[in-house]
Amino acid sequence: MTSGLLEDASFNQSPAFGDVDLFTADRPLADAAARLGLDTKALTACGRDYGSAATLDLGRVANENPPKLRTMDGKGNRLDLVEFHPAYHALMEKSIGHGIHASAHDGSEPHGPLASRAVRLYLATQAESGHLCPVTMTHACIGALKAEPALLKKWRSKIQSRTYDPRPLPWREKKGVTLGMGMTERQGGTDVRANITSATPISSQGGGDHVEITGHKWFMSAPMCDAFLVLAQAEGGLTCYLMPRYRPDGSHNGLRFQRLKDKLGNKSNASSEVEFHAAYAERVGPEGAGVRTIIEMVNLTRLDCAIASAGQMRIALSQALHHIRNRSVFQKKLADQPAMRAVVADLALELEAQVALVFRLAHAADHAATDPREAAYARLLTPAVKFLVCKSTPQVVYESLECLGGNGYTEDLPMARYYREAPLNAIWEGSGNVMALDVLRAAGRHPDAATDTLSRLVRTASQAFHVTPLAQALERTLKSADAERRARFLCEGLARIAALAALVEAGSDFATLYGETRLGAGHFAQFGTADLGSNETALMDRALAI
Ligand SMILES: Cc1cc2nc3c(=O)[nH]c(=O)nc-3n(C[C@H](O)[C@H](O)[C@H](O)COP(=O)(O)OP(=O)(O)OC[C@H]3O[C@@H](n4cnc5c(N)ncnc54)[C@H](O)[C@@H]3O)c2cc1C
Repeated sequence: MTSGLLEDASFNQSPAFGDVDLFTADRPLADAAARLGLDTKALTACGRDYGSAATLDLGRVANENPPKLRTMDGKGNRLDLVEFHPAYHALMEKSIGHGIHASAHDGSEPHGPLASRAVRLYLATQAESGHLCPVTMTHACIGALKAEPALLKKWRSKIQSRTYDPRPLPWREKKGVTLGMGMTERQGGTDVRANITSATPISSQGGGDHVEITGHKWFMSAPMCDAFLVLAQAEGGLTCYLMPRYRPDGSHNGLRFQRLKDKLGNKSNASSEVEFHAAYAERVGPEGAGVRTIIEMVNLTRLDCAIASAGQMRIALSQALHHIRNRSVFQKKLADQPAMRAVVADLALELEAQVALVFRLAHAADHAATDPREAAYARLLTPAVKFLVCKSTPQVVYESLECLGGNGYTEDLPMARYYREAPLNAIWEGSGNVMALDVLRAAGRHPDAATDTLSRLVRTASQAFHVTPLAQALERTLKSADAERRARFLCEGLARIAALAALVEAGSDFATLYGETRLGAGHFAQFGTADLGSNETALMDRALAI
């Protein structure tokens, strides 16, 4: 063996993954988009852009060079600036250029605006997840700002701009802006009613519309956003406010960043701890209605968590398929080894169902305003889908990583980064138990709508697999005194039936297989243990159609 041979990169190693059209290569996605009547030509261009080798490499570089906080200059003047690597800025420019921060609200996509944007988010997250934090938050904040039309009107053109402008300037002087959110405090995250940060009216501007906020936030991500939706206690109770980085006179607002979190993953994105020192802010929605006002935002971010997690699973599985098609062991390609095929086909089956499910939910969100049944579906299923999809992500990413063997575990390839990112969406915007309890809350507040939604899901799902016993168990548990303790059972059961129903609605060839292997008896939890029989080839071919 010569040293030249040892340096030969083609020595039974898979070539680098890149220059792939992430939209067309993903048959479950392309089918979902066609079913929803979306502009597949535009989405193909988007898939090529995020799947190019150059864009995928921006993801690597942005995470190898995390942001730095500069609280002061060398002479002690406050700066409160976070400096990001140019790769992060390039990704922001791209995703804002694709309208992922605002297109669902700006009328540019009259047909399926949320679903169409969801496809672009799903594609973008495959290149890099961290930069999508402010992109998602900007999109979601628009939902909450609708509660204060005059304020939204003032900001709208800057928010909807497709120009990314990272300059630290008052928002009116910028070509485009991004929005963040500060809800979580040290003593209460999920329980926002425990917030102690307080708002004091500025007397000259009256009515509690303009306030100064004093307190802190324990997590406030993307601190270079131009304004933040913040919850604070006013005289009338917990209230939502929009806090710009600069006061109306152009001076620095009272935001003092304490430090950046040292996180498991999500390295390209900064998440700050921040203090507010009489920071100027404007009220959003009625005083005392903070939770009701931010619910619009929260629903949109929860949907985004599910979509982005589905994208994270997809890119991990694509990397795995690409590798096993190129790597041989024992004189045979890994993709032809029966035990390996059982694993990746099982992962592909999970993605078939979860992709169908998240886009079914996006469709419901698109039609919720005009169709009460879609509204009921969105209300009941949003937490359940977030629970199932986000909780599946670490496991799917881990199995995909293992398909690359030792290489998968190294920092030279992106699998380790995907793995570190994978648990985040399950925690952010409502952790697992909180989602499960939210399903109970939705069912308790609107029992007739919930029963009707479940009945329709069961009717549809039953075309492929007998789900009635499970549905009856869910109904019994829901009505029992034990419902809270069994909240995860209810939540996952509901999401699994909805996933099966989504496959049936999609006319999928794999609906019965999904029902048998996920809801039937005699199956184990690990991927690769289910008997998928002759479906393996079709599942693998559809998962990465290149
Ligand atoms: C990377 C990152 C970025 C973030 N960015 C932001 C941001 O920009 N803005 C922001 O406001 N927040 C942000 N967060 C905070 C995040 O939304 C919260 O961490 C999350 O909502 C959970 O709140 P907590 O940390 O206070 O946990 P807790 O509320 O203390 O929950 C701890 C655990 O208890 C469980 N639990 C809670 N209630 C119940 C119950 N009734 N019964 C049973 N179990 C329960 C939860 O599921 C969880 O597992 C970020 C977090 C991370 C990790």
